Amino acid sequence: MTSERPRVVAITGAAGGIGAAVARRFAASGDRLLLLDRRPLPDLVAELDGLASYEAVDVASSADVARALELGAAALGPVEVLVNNAGIGSRRRFVDMTEAEWDEMIAINLKSVFNTCRVVAPAMIEAGHGKIINVASELGLIGAVSMTHYSASKGGVIAFSKALARELSPSGVHVNVVAPGPIETPLLTDYPEEYNDETLAGIPLGRWGRPDDVAATVEFVASPNADYYAGWVFSPNGGVVM
Ligand code: NAD
Repeated sequence: MTSERPRVVAITGAAGGIGAAVARRFAASGDRLLLLDRRPLPDLVAELDGLASYEAVDVASSADVARALELGAAALGPVEVLVNNAGIGSRRRFVDMTEAEWDEMIAINLKSVFNTCRVVAPAMIEAGHGKIINVASELGLIGAVSMTHYSASKGGVIAFSKALARELSPSGVHVNVVAPGPIETPLLTDYPEEYNDETLAGIPLGRWGRPDDVAATVEFVASPNADYYAGWVFSPNGGVVM
């Protein structure tokens, strides 16, 4: 069962390219938004005109996540849709990778999902409904050179989501994954130009994805139209993974 709108929607990484697009999609339907990011986002909060509030959070810290989500729930009501979207990306050959780089990637991209789900799941179970949408990456399905840490973190998000979906589906809580292909956001500017040229050449649809391509998928997965999906990986990727 999906709750009636407006819903309370929490989005991590809301200051980023995909997160802001997701926020705009939900706000257009009048949902109330809890925007979470380590970067402030005053322009987006102003643009969304009373529908959104912001909490500063480091998603890698379980204490910080609990604080931010509990403050948000006290102000807006229990979170009914959780979009775990915060993440980082970087490239490093496996043989050059440091333990610190590995640990940071896993903490921000994977442990963060554990941190948020742990806080919101009990209330969703009690309510008998809820949607958890975890943003992974197509690279969590196929892997990428110089991205063992990123690929592992996103593959971990996919496996975690499937396991959690098996556990929570009987309680009416939907857990699914959105695993985008290459999307034109600030994250891509962290990668070298030659890598990006090569990536673009490998996209059958011949263009970068747009943040709103991902937001449209997230909106669908959060909607009642997706109520018969559980533990599924939706991958807007331009045809890179078929
Ligand atoms: P982005 O860099 O524009 O946004 C990421 C956001 O996450 C930023 O606002 C950043 O401040 C926030 N963030 C990072 N670490 C954080 C932390 N510790 N605590 C709180 N917030 C933190 O990148 P994006 O492209 O919008 O990425 C969003 C998600 O989509 C990420 O999980 C990313 O891995 C995934 N993704 C992106 C692409 C792509 O090509 N852009 C492809 C597949 C998956």
